[in-house]
Amino acid sequence: MVDEGRRGIFTSLSSALRGEKKSSETPVRPPYNNDPDLFSRLCPECEEKPCARVCEEDIIEICENGTPKLLFQKRGCTFCDECLKACDKGVLSDASLPFIKASVEIDILKCMAWHGTICSSCKDPCLEDAIKFLALFRPEIEPERCTACGWCIPVCPVDAIKIQTL
Ligand code: SF4
Ligand code: SF4
Ligand code: SF4
Repeated sequence: MVDEGRRGIFTSLSSALRGEKKSSETPVRPPYNNDPDLFSRLCPECEEKPCARVCEEDIIEICENGTPKLLFQKRGCTFCDECLKACDKGVLSDASLPFIKASVEIDILKCMAWHGTICSSCKDPCLEDAIKFLALFRPEIEPERCTACGWCIPVCPVDAIKIQTL
């Protein structure tokens, strides 16, 4: 579960990395899936959508086509396994995949720490220690450490952290 104390305290300034915004329309999906095609094949016929109901962080939203996507407007994923346990269609079925298939990047054009303002809001909730600063500035996310949990996204005061499905 989340280290609420650590994550809750820091809601100041911050953010994120290089780059062009990519424009993928593909939703970011819940973890524990090893075949993305299953979402469109099996989820529309899942009547109760239990994954969305059990998510304690309330980050699973059901799209118009009946498939789940993750939203990181307020919270992130704790990899609590509840959606995995709730899915009885085999869409979320692989406990060996406790990460989200997405890339998380800091937009250096928006990030204040790339423009001379001290801000570490994104670093504080990252339990993976995946956000590295050069001295106090120029934060970048190390993809090999990042699980795409999304906790850094809502704390950025200038909305500079973007997540995109892989
Ligand atoms: S519980 Fe499983 S099958 Fe149902 S919507 Fe969620 S991921 Fe899809
Ligand atoms: S692992 Fe837990 S927090 Fe993450 S999406 Fe599933 S139910 Fe929600
Ligand atoms: S999405 Fe990546 S960088 Fe952001 S808090 Fe999670 S692990 Fe850290």
